[in-house]
Amino acid sequence: MTVKTTVQPTARLIEVFSAIQGEGLNVGTRQIFLRFALCDLRCHFCDSAHTWNAPATCRIERSPGLRDFEIHSNPVPLPMLLQWVERQNLPCLHDSISLTGGEPLLHAAFLKEFLPQVRSLTKLPIYLESGGHRPEQLAMILPYLDSVGMDLKLPSVSGESLWQEHTKFLQLCADSHLNTFVKIIIAENTNPAELEHSAAMVADISPDIPVFLQPVTPLPASAQLTEMPVLAPTPEKVLTWQALMKQFIPQVRVIPQTHKMLDQM
Ligand code: SF4
Repeated sequence: MTVKTTVQPTARLIEVFSAIQGEGLNVGTRQIFLRFALCDLRCHFCDSAHTWNAPATCRIERSPGLRDFEIHSNPVPLPMLLQWVERQNLPCLHDSISLTGGEPLLHAAFLKEFLPQVRSLTKLPIYLESGGHRPEQLAMILPYLDSVGMDLKLPSVSGESLWQEHTKFLQLCADSHLNTFVKIIIAENTNPAELEHSAAMVADISPDIPVFLQPVTPLPASAQLTEMPVLAPTPEKVLTWQALMKQFIPQVRVIPQTHKMLDQM
C-alpha cells in the first residue's frame, strides 16, 4: 500500500508589515510588505544584507503601521501567512501586496501555491520586486502577478553581471503584459556604457517600459560591504545619464529612496 503524504508549503520570512512604498512606479502607495529571506546575489550597495541568510525567527506586525511586531518561528506554514495578511488588510487601506526580500523568487514553489489564495482572499493586486535574474522561477508565478519591478544590476555598481538573465526576465514580463518597470541603482562610479547598454536592451524589448534611475543611498560606514564605499553620483552626472538613456527610451525618471527621507521602513 502506498501512503500519500502531503507536504505543507512553507516560506522563510524576515518580516510582514504595512508601509509606504518608497521606490519606483508604486512610490507613495500603501502596501502590505512580505519580506522573504534568502538572496543569491551580493550587490555592493545592498541595504538588506540581513536577508541573505534565513533567520530562525521572523517579525510580524499585528496592526498595519503600528510596528507592534510579534516574533514567530521560521519556516512559516502557508495558512499562517494568509492569516497575517488578512489581519493587515483593513478596508480601503492598502493598494497592493509587495513581495520583496531578499529574492522572493527563491520561494517560487511556495508562491505558486500562496499567490492565488492571497489574491482571492484580499482582492489586492500583487507586486513583485526582484533582482531580475531568475526567469524560470518568474515563469512559475507569472499568472498570479499584476506588476513587476525588475532591478537591473549594473556590473560597475553592483558587482553582478546578469545581462542575459535580465533580458529573458524582462521579455517574459513584456510578453505577459504585466505592469513592468526597471530600476537601476546609480552611483558615482557608474559606467555610462552600461547605462547605454541597459537602455538599448529595454528599448529592444519594449520602449514603453519605464526606467527609474535610483541614486544610491550610501550605507553607513559600519554596514559597508566593500572596501571602496559606494557613493552617490554628482547632480551633473545624474543629468547627463538621464539624457543619455532618453535617446533610447522615453520614460527615464530619477527617484531616490523616498521612504528613507520620510524615516519609514
Ligand atoms: S538582490 Fe537585493 S537583497 Fe540581494 S544582494 Fe542585491 S540588493 Fe541585496
